[in-house]
Parts: sequence; C-alpha cells; structure tokens
Amino acid sequence: MRTLVAGAILLLAFSAPAHAYLHFSITVGGRSLDVKWRRSPVRWFAADRGAAGVSAADVQAAVTRAFATWQAVPTASIAFEFVGSTSAEPFDDDGISVLGFQAHPEMERVLGATSFLIDTTSGEIVESDIFFNSAFPWSTAGAGDPARFDLESVAVHEVGHFLGLGHSALGETELRPEGGRRVLASGAVMFPIAFGRGNTLDRELQPDDIAGVSSLYPEIGFRQQTGTVRGQVLRDGVGVLGAHVVAFNPRTGELIGGFTLSRDGEFEIAGLSPGPHVIRVEPLDDAELESFFSARTPVDVAFRVTFHHRLVVAPRGGAGERLTVAVQPK
Ligand SMILES: [Zn+2]
Repeated sequence: MRTLVAGAILLLAFSAPAHAYLHFSITVGGRSLDVKWRRSPVRWFAADRGAAGVSAADVQAAVTRAFATWQAVPTASIAFEFVGSTSAEPFDDDGISVLGFQAHPEMERVLGATSFLIDTTSGEIVESDIFFNSAFPWSTAGAGDPARFDLESVAVHEVGHFLGLGHSALGETELRPEGGRRVLASGAVMFPIAFGRGNTLDRELQPDDIAGVSSLYPEIGFRQQTGTVRGQVLRDGVGVLGAHVVAFNPRTGELIGGFTLSRDGEFEIAGLSPGPHVIRVEPLDDAELESFFSARTPVDVAFRVTFHHRLVVAPRGGAGERLTVAVQPK
C-alpha cells in the first residue's frame, strides 16, 4: 500500500516477515514460507477504464512500464504477461490478477493498494490485484505533472507488493504540522510513504529494491555473485526486535536495509555487492510501525542510532563472520 502520509497498512496481515527488506511470509507447520509467485510469466489484466485525465490505454501503458521495470532487474528472474483488458474489478477473488482504478474517497491517505490470494500450504501467490485510488488526481505525463500523482511511480511500488515484497525503511521523513509525514529522502521505492505530486523518482528501482526482488526470485548466479552480512543486535545483552539495520557500501554507494526479525535480535542482509560495508542500526521511527510489522509485534524503538565500530566485509557468494552490534537505550 502506498500512503500519502503514514497511517494506512497493508491490507492483509501476514504472520511475521521472514527476511530482510521484508518479504511476506506465512508459517505452515512451524516453517516460514516466502509468499511468492512460483510460475513465470505472471499473467495480468488491466481494468477497462481510466480516471479523470487518464485513459484506460494510459493506465495499461503505465502499468506495463512498471512491470517491465521489475522484469528488467538482471539479477532477478520473474516475467509478466499482459493478457488483456477486463470489466472485472480489482480486489475481487476471481482467479485473475486485475490492476486498475477504483474510487475510494473514504481512504483519504491511500493512493493504491495490493491484495493477494495465496495457497496457504505452499505460500504460492495465485492471484494479486492492485487498485489505484481514483479519488486522487493522476498523471501519466512523461515528465510528471506538478498538480497530480505519477501513476507509473505508484504502480512500481504496488507491483513490488504484488511480487511479495513488503516495505523498506530506507527513508527519512519529518512530521507535518497538519498531521502525517513528509518524505525528505528515500532510498527505496518500497518505502511506505509516497513522494508528493509531480514527483517521478519512484519510476526507478534503487539498490534495496533490487536486492529484495533478487533474493526472492534469484537469477542463476545471484547468490554466488553477491554477499551477505548477518549478526545480532543487542541491548543490555538482550535481543532487539524490529531494529532497522542498514548496510552501506562506500565503493558503490549502495544502501541496502534489513531488520532484526526475532526476539534474539538476529538479522541477515543478502544481495550485497561484495566488499566492505558500513553497518548502521537505527530504530524504526520514520514511518508507522504497522507499515512494517503487525500491530502485535513488540518492536523496540527506544535505542540510539549506532554504527558498528568497524567495516564489515560481505564476501562474494557467502556470509562473513557474525557481528554483534550493541545499542544503547535512548
Ligand atoms: Zn506499500
């Protein structure tokens, strides 16, 4: 889901996320399974209507570009096929994946959302739908329109969910006096809070998005060519749950984030360009916690931003030594 300002959450509550950058997962018989497509190409339909200023053909073209952006990631192996336009609605469980406009004036902060139908024995996605909220003004202009939201940018974000990706916490926001948050900088299309009207930056994936989709749908060689950093975040010797762990590669400039996902504070960030990384651990305080974890998850945000005391090497094709990052209470 893409929100104008924080406040909305993913429509489906999955048990607990399993991996870095957040992949959706379900637990079956005590095992955590990634929620993902298991057949490629994934077939999709476009709803046969537009919205004010955007024709049905414009929608289909913008969504096609959004799918092509994910399909073009060289380290990921997933493809899409446009089947045709349909009078079916997004968010109906009808066995076909439909993307298009729907009017939701009651959802004042939601630009778009993604739903899933999953096989709960295997985690396979069998259907996923996306609606774009026609209560907002939209544009598909090549350079964007300062008065309207860029449909392609929001489509790239929602297609990330469609693939099984959750939100990334790589972004900085500030609270707005009138409520909600404003994005100051974002290091991932999968950051939960959208840029404002006219902004088209999210048409392009960032390294964090690319690592997320590649680890979920790895192309042959992805794991051999990239490296992993893993370890544990502790406060007073106790694991920290829900800490945001960021790996920065000073050589490439890539910034890739993960989370501690268990009570023992364990994290793992895969898909890194091999070499030394700066590791920063920070509390999840730039968006609503529910954008990342279910409301029941006891996420710890009461600690200070901490840099690991030395560079950490992500070796090609494997994981380096486990690191322990001790954080101080706020
Ligand atoms: Zn979202």
